[in-house]
Amino acid sequence: MTAAPDGLPPLAALETARLDWQSDASGEAAPHSAAFDDVYFSRHDGRAETGHVFLAGNRLPERFAAWQERRPFVVGETGFGTGLNMLCAWACFDAQAPADARLHLVSTEKFPLAREELARALSAWPDLAPRAAALVAQWPEPVAGVHRLWLDERVTLDLHFGDAAERLALLEGRVDAWFLDGFAPAKNPEMWRPELFEAMAAHSRPGATFATFTCAGVVKRGLAAAGFSWRKVPGFGRKREMLAGDIATPPRDERRARTPWFTPPAARPPRHVAVIGAGIAGASAAAALARRGVSVTLIDRFDRASLGETHLQGALYVKLAVDTNPQSRTYLAGLLHSRRWLEWLDPEQALWRPSGVLQLALSEKEQARQARFLANHPLPESVVRGLDAEAAGAAAGIEVPGPALDYPCAAWVRPLALCASLAATPGVTLRLGEVTALDGGADGWCLTLADGERLEADQVVVAGASEAGRFAQTAALPLQPVRGQVSQLRLPEGAPPLGRVVCAGGYVPPAADGVLNFGATFAPGETDPTERAADHAANLAELERGLPAFVAALRDAGADLTPERLTGRVGVRAASPDKSPYAGPVPDATAWREDYALLTKDATRVPEVPGRHHQGLWISAAHGSRGLASAPLCAELLASRICDEPLPLEQPLADHLHPGRRIIRELIRGK
Ligand code: SAM
Repeated sequence: MTAAPDGLPPLAALETARLDWQSDASGEAAPHSAAFDDVYFSRHDGRAETGHVFLAGNRLPERFAAWQERRPFVVGETGFGTGLNMLCAWACFDAQAPADARLHLVSTEKFPLAREELARALSAWPDLAPRAAALVAQWPEPVAGVHRLWLDERVTLDLHFGDAAERLALLEGRVDAWFLDGFAPAKNPEMWRPELFEAMAAHSRPGATFATFTCAGVVKRGLAAAGFSWRKVPGFGRKREMLAGDIATPPRDERRARTPWFTPPAARPPRHVAVIGAGIAGASAAAALARRGVSVTLIDRFDRASLGETHLQGALYVKLAVDTNPQSRTYLAGLLHSRRWLEWLDPEQALWRPSGVLQLALSEKEQARQARFLANHPLPESVVRGLDAEAAGAAAGIEVPGPALDYPCAAWVRPLALCASLAATPGVTLRLGEVTALDGGADGWCLTLADGERLEADQVVVAGASEAGRFAQTAALPLQPVRGQVSQLRLPEGAPPLGRVVCAGGYVPPAADGVLNFGATFAPGETDPTERAADHAANLAELERGLPAFVAALRDAGADLTPERLTGRVGVRAASPDKSPYAGPVPDATAWREDYALLTKDATRVPEVPGRHHQGLWISAAHGSRGLASAPLCAELLASRICDEPLPLEQPLADHLHPGRRIIRELIRGK
């Protein structure tokens, strides 16, 4: 497979599984792969086979029952298929594990089933129905990458869509037990290649086990060469033998040899974390930690509840680059993540609406850019597609002056209500206060508040937008404030309803509760919180440029569009110099400049020194005006790092978000 310009596997739609349904021994139709001419499972005894080969083969019932760690038990798999194995592992975990234990499932799949086929296949097991329903409801789009699903309060599933060997090589995380599944080696030799076993070894915990249905020589040799020891054990049913085994000492992660600065600090899952900033970055981080049993104090100097009803709406959307790059990949992953997360968090849609977003192309240059983007990114039409002006107008519900990119999975959100709902997650305590200083020691952190009060916490997450850089430990991370003003208009009777969020220079979501939001201005370097008539005028001009027919219809319906009479809201966001968020451990900048000083002279001389960090201090900031797409994913990323779990993003993308990246870039440039 040809790599994308950034060296990672192409960012594209995956081929979905080609199934035919063949009668098995019981006479019932069972899923069968037309492409590989092999079965997914037998309806007759598929459950018993999973129980024997993968669960008992890895001694999961005993290991689950004895699990006392604060981190989750991690199961890895090489062919998700219908998910039967993983649902059975989940059921076994529920039956055996202590009440406060957690389970993390990681599975790869190159040819995902279509959602309807998945539901049909799993309907064979009525007792698994509630578990199957949770899976089917969150089943991701067939897009290469990592997709995180929340199966229940203590079970998470990361689906890594793409080739198993390729995807496991990009995984950041380690596994306790492997289900080595996939069609038989004779029918699918491409999967069972040496790189697969090497990637499994590199992502194993010491003592990790594996089990597989096959005894093929290529599998035995591959496992042994990668460092696993294997033994033959009795197979299931008519299969006389299968393989099980383990790896006592997994190899070290060689990927870090070239980027030792990104080596994560040793994880020490905390009991209590203070999160500074209750906007979308902080509130989503607090909720993600609380879901993992961490008690969280969420601190903000601003009482959002005092605003009352604001009618504010934010757009969940992204702008992707023409050529695939890590930033675009991260934002697309963020968009898909936020959409799935909103559906899971708020199925009633009180906090958001799946409106889709149209990105208009009003100039020839932008039209050419969109066309090149589509040519470079063959993504599913349910994620992004090109529409001509007529089709775009039909989607928007009003004539538009040009073609557009349509993101049907994008949405609009009530940001303040969303943050309030996250802050109300059990385990989160919200408190008003302004943190002025942070002091870290061997036992944790002490936070000093403006009123002189002091607060203790095991660890701290800084998520205060442009104020995130105010602490001595975060001051080296450049953050630029960006003022943005949104305008609001109460719609007159007869104003046309919009069918999509429409973006050109600014954005306008379909009106909610009779109030239209449109904007926003974008003023880097400004922090003035007062509303300005000139900004309302600029927002109106932008609205008219993108949707002249809509503005004409508003006027016809009697809307008063005088800038001085509009109301609005001002927000100050924060951006990093490269416009990607900071999400990760806070580097000790002084130590990095000392440890990696050699890079200034010769960028190829990489010292073998792991990055030194302010232990237990984390940041999620610089989300700019795309926080709804980036912050929830960054929250999961941080919570996963903090709680010692596999990450919901490929390692190179987690590195891309690392707050220390600029320090290294500057050293290399000789600054
Ligand atoms: N574990 C599955 C279950 O519980 O239903 C059954 C797995 S099925 C026998 C094999 C799966 O491996 C198929 O879904 C197939 O698409 C997937 N697969 C085949 N080649 C692959 C590859 N190179 N990388 C990832 N998955 C692959």
